[in-house]
Amino acid sequence: MDELVALCKRRGFIFQSSEIYGGLQGTYDFGPLGVELKNNIKNAWWESMVYENDDIEGLDSSILTNPLVLKYSGHEDTFSDPMVDCKSCGKRYRADQVPKECKVEDLTEPRQFNLMFKTNVGPIEDGSSYAYLRPETAQQIFTNFKNVLDSTSKAIPFGIAQIGKAFRNEITPRNFIFRVREFEQMELEYFVMPGNDEEFHDSWVQKRLEWWNNQGVPMESIEIYDVPTEELAHYSKKTVDLMYKFPHGLEELEGIANRTDFDLGSHSKKQKELAINSNVKENKHSNSKMAIQDSSGEWVVPYVIEPSAGVERGFLAILNEAYLLEELEDGKTRVVLKLKPHLSPVKAAVIPLKKNSSELVDSAKQIKKDLQKLGLGRVILENTGNIGKSYRKHDEIGTPVCITVDFETLNDKTVTIRDRDSMDQKRISIVDLSSYLTKLINN
Ligand code: ATP
Repeated sequence: MDELVALCKRRGFIFQSSEIYGGLQGTYDFGPLGVELKNNIKNAWWESMVYENDDIEGLDSSILTNPLVLKYSGHEDTFSDPMVDCKSCGKRYRADQVPKECKVEDLTEPRQFNLMFKTNVGPIEDGSSYAYLRPETAQQIFTNFKNVLDSTSKAIPFGIAQIGKAFRNEITPRNFIFRVREFEQMELEYFVMPGNDEEFHDSWVQKRLEWWNNQGVPMESIEIYDVPTEELAHYSKKTVDLMYKFPHGLEELEGIANRTDFDLGSHSKKQKELAINSNVKENKHSNSKMAIQDSSGEWVVPYVIEPSAGVERGFLAILNEAYLLEELEDGKTRVVLKLKPHLSPVKAAVIPLKKNSSELVDSAKQIKKDLQKLGLGRVILENTGNIGKSYRKHDEIGTPVCITVDFETLNDKTVTIRDRDSMDQKRISIVDLSSYLTKLINN
């Protein structure tokens, strides 16, 4: 973990938030490379969900959430963790995360602590008008169920996907970006007919494993944890957690839950007219019937399957898998990030052999401009005049190829391409660069 944290800071992936004022616990800022990697992860998810499936639609809902949403979802009553105080060290811990150094006799009885951030809305700060920062993106997907259904003429099964910030006042944020107070989630709510739920649940577990594999987190690195009944969230019929061996230990990367009809049932009006299977609170405020009519005209509350992944945890797992300290033949070592090319923050670096040669620099600039237009991601001109140093930097940040422009280029319109992983170099024509890079990135 220390090596990853150091790399992230050194190269500009991740910084401590508000660092110049001593930081703010549980928050991080993503730097120039971090924002690219993060966006690439999110884009890969969005493409695999929304663009590849005509039965899935996207959504971007508000972060500020009406308290009624979180009242009926159950978050006001149950979204809490038990916390204990250690009378010896004076620190507060989540009851299941007390460090070994604290003695049991020093700990207070566990108390429930709600994890939601509350904030004032409007100019009066007397607490009469407040909202929550959403603790998950899912709830506003449920409240928009009818809007999306009606505006897109979808039929069950169909899904709504969303990526966005979520906030949890974690008692003990820790392990770098693994457990933070402000993070992003990539959530799909996939609505199915009751009875088909188990089959869809199984198939989403498989699809999610394949997706992680395509991002460089192989199935062998993920352990499937079938959450035992006594540990299930109150709304869940079954949950499968994808557990990844993070540098600090085996922990949840993504959860895939069968949330039954709990959410739509909870947010629905006229609940008594619907045969809701879950145990829901009586809803006195909703103005929408969160149900559909089946072929015989019966009202049915769909079940929902929810694959929910954290962007930061994905980032950490992807980085951990890609990071390699490699021994070279000459006895030296290099740090290399073997990221899948579609995730690399920089897709290609174009390097003029001599920094002060205007002919070389102009040629490199033109190549950069042309490759940038392909829309594959960021291509940069690296005009440091030090090829060896540039290669080392781009190995460390995971750039799949470096393209060197030298004096031969001016004569025969070829460049040297250096491959990050094999370090092999070969000459290719400038005219072939576009198809070479496109193939590499889209593979
Ligand atoms: P944990 O048990 O680790 O607290 P959880 O089961 O509460 O996680 P969910 O509510 O299932 O998490 O949230 C879905 C996903 O959101 C998680 O799999 C994780 O990737 C991410 N996530 C949840 N809490 C955090 C956090 N505090 N920091 C970063 N990511 C988080």
